Order: sequence, then C-alpha cells, then structure tokens
Amino acid sequence: MPELPEVETVRRSLEPVILHQPIKRVDVHYERILQHVSVQDFRDLLTGNQFLQISRRGKYLIFSLENDWELVAHLRMTGRLIFVSDTQIPLEKHTSVVFDLGSAGALRFEDVRKFATIDLVPKGDYEQIKGLHTLGVEPLSPEFSLSVFQELLEGRSTKIKGLLLDQTKIAGLGNIYADESLFMAGIHPERPACSLTSQEQQLLHSAIREVLTLAIENQGTTLRDYRTGYGLEGSFQNKLLIYGKKGEECPRCKAKLEHRKVAGRTSHFCPSCQRE
Ligand SMILES: [Zn+2]
Repeated sequence: MPELPEVETVRRSLEPVILHQPIKRVDVHYERILQHVSVQDFRDLLTGNQFLQISRRGKYLIFSLENDWELVAHLRMTGRLIFVSDTQIPLEKHTSVVFDLGSAGALRFEDVRKFATIDLVPKGDYEQIKGLHTLGVEPLSPEFSLSVFQELLEGRSTKIKGLLLDQTKIAGLGNIYADESLFMAGIHPERPACSLTSQEQQLLHSAIREVLTLAIENQGTTLRDYRTGYGLEGSFQNKLLIYGKKGEECPRCKAKLEHRKVAGRTSHFCPSCQRE
C-alpha cells in the first residue's frame, strides 16, 4: 500500500505535467471510485476546468481546481495515478477514471483491487472525508517537533507500532516505514508507547523523519503495484533494512530477523537489536 513517500512521489511527478492544462473530458469507467458525488456532477464540475495545485495530507492527494473545488484521491492498496503524454497508449484493464488533458496528454487512475477513492468537495470542506478530516501531524512538517512526538507517546500504553500506524496521531506512516523507523531506533514494535526512554523517543523521532526523507529521495518503495506518476518503479525497496526480510540476517548484528503480528500487521524486527 502506498505510504507517505509514495504518495508524495506521485504528487511531485504529476505537478510539472498536469497543472494548468484544460480538462477536455472525463471518462469514468468504474463509478464506485466516486464518493458522495454522481458521475454527472463529477464530469460537469471537472470538464473545462483545470488543476491549479496538488498537495498532500498523509496518504491523501488533494488537487485544487480553478473553480475552488478540490478533488481528493486516496490510492489505498493498488491505486495508481499515471500521466501519459501519448493518449494512443491503450488503457490498462483496471482503469477507473481518465482525465483527458487535450494535447498535453491524459491522467489515468488505475486500480486493480478497486479500493481507491475519489471525493470532490468545495475547497477545504473535508467533513465527509473522515480519514482526511481526522488526520494527525505531518511527520515531515516543522509541527512534528520532538516535544509534539513526546506528547503523543505520553501516558499511552498502546504498542508503539500501533501508535505509529494510527493516522489520527501521525499522518502517512504505514507498515513499511513504521518497521524501518523502529529498527533504525532499535525499538521493539510491541513496546508500550509510554515506556520509551527520552533517548529512545529522540532516536525514533529522527528515524521517522530520516527514513521518510530517504524514501522520497528514492521515489518510494515498489514491492508490487506502486508506480510514480510516470508509471515507473521506485527504488527504495533496494534500501530497506528490515521490512520483508524475515529469516534473513540483521544488517547490523547478523542475528536472524523475526516477524510477528502486531496491531494487526506483520511486523519485522531484530530480536537482538530491538529488545522486548
Ligand atoms: Zn540486529
């Protein structure tokens, strides 16, 4: 599932190619991708309009339109937003929506598993988009200070891995980057959040920022479905330290890596570097 670095990479790759291009036509091939808006209204509000800006909150992409509406997209499991300059390239079988940008090309929303969503709302009106409305702090923003992080952990007996995955606390972290951050900081995923020493809080705070920044520099992690806005694979999968490496040697101490279900997700850890 795309996490913050993948969604941010999609944003950065689409920005130079789709902004300020008149939307000539909108084809909806899979109606259920649209939330709270009819196909007719969706097409009417978009046709003849243009995207002015793309921003990101957590794993959401927000496309600002000229008419003061916003298209809000979530890729979920297998969603892809791909720009093509050559519209003669045949559509993928699982294409849900196509935004025809005339001579500039087209933006295609593909989704094999069909969990991705699109909302269309008046600017800033996110009440009906529950996941967006309740998002926690952006981990790469200046607001995510060490003291804000410490406050999130304080008094919480929930497992640290679960807390990192909770989008209402920190926005955009998922299974891959939570595991990588905990490994970098040497913290076991099942430790109660409130049990971290102040040194561990500091290590984890910087690990989160470091791993997300590195992953964005590497265009995200492609394990299977994720692609950038140009349809290319990311490369951070080659730099993962622990995620998906069960049974392999710890890159730090050579112990055999383990995995276990924590907070409903398979969590990878080194039993020696990350003590329970
Ligand atoms: Zn180790």
